[in-house]
Amino acid sequence: MRLTILGSGGPLTTPRPGCPCRVCTAARRHGGRGRRGGPGIFVHDAHLLIDATEDIVPLLNSAGVERIDHLFLTHWHPDHTAGFRFVEQVNFDVLRGAAGRRTMVWMNAATARRLADSWRFFEAVGYCRLNVVEPGTRLDLGSITATWFNYAPEGFLSGFVLDDGRARALLVLDETKDLAEQVAADPLLQGHDLLVAECGWFERDPDGHILVRENSRLRTEEAGFERDTLPLIRAARARRTVLTHLMDLHGRTPEEFDALAASLAPLDVQFAYDGMVVDL
Ligand SMILES: [Zn+2]
Ligand SMILES: [Zn+2]
Repeated sequence: MRLTILGSGGPLTTPRPGCPCRVCTAARRHGGRGRRGGPGIFVHDAHLLIDATEDIVPLLNSAGVERIDHLFLTHWHPDHTAGFRFVEQVNFDVLRGAAGRRTMVWMNAATARRLADSWRFFEAVGYCRLNVVEPGTRLDLGSITATWFNYAPEGFLSGFVLDDGRARALLVLDETKDLAEQVAADPLLQGHDLLVAECGWFERDPDGHILVRENSRLRTEEAGFERDTLPLIRAARARRTVLTHLMDLHGRTPEEFDALAASLAPLDVQFAYDGMVVDL
């Protein structure tokens, strides 16, 4: 199984225009792994895209992706859905002057309730077909099967177990606060070859400067690296872990993320970057 992290950012991409923080400044100066687009993962074997962020089209071009048969949407938040019109960009046939191919779109009921009506136009003109997936469903995507499950309050998030018969990957890409308990209680979510998860916020940057204040809403609403992500990694017991959804608010350059990853040994953890290829 081969996955490419198309975009390793979150609702904030890096660098943000005008932002003077150390992470954005370094990204502007050095480019490379410091530049992060919105969240997106491509699973090559199934021509599967996971999430449709605003800048997904340039991210697809950068990674050389030419065809998308399936789109999985983890949840309705705009950093995961606001680029939905990519179905027109990738499926338009110039000679026909209309849709050539069609992408099968899969989403949970909460996402469908909020957004499906605004996408019916793209379905009607042939660029996609919209499908709602119930938790526990196993989708056959040819060489890969994908088992869906829901988590987070009212199950508005979907996670996936991808299995190609040789390797299995667990993907929980956002809103992982308190998810460790659910993973610890469910054997389906344990012992995979790969875990891809949201990184979660850090209290301080590598220089000790505060990143998340005592009264920040991040503390009550969002996953924290130490409070949620490390327990999640331990509960999932995957052979290796890739952490993504990385923003300037994490206060770290790619090199500082590398140093943090090294400090976590014997846990095999890597921090994602745009264009990162993961082979299982
Ligand atoms: Zn997000
Ligand atoms: Zn910044």
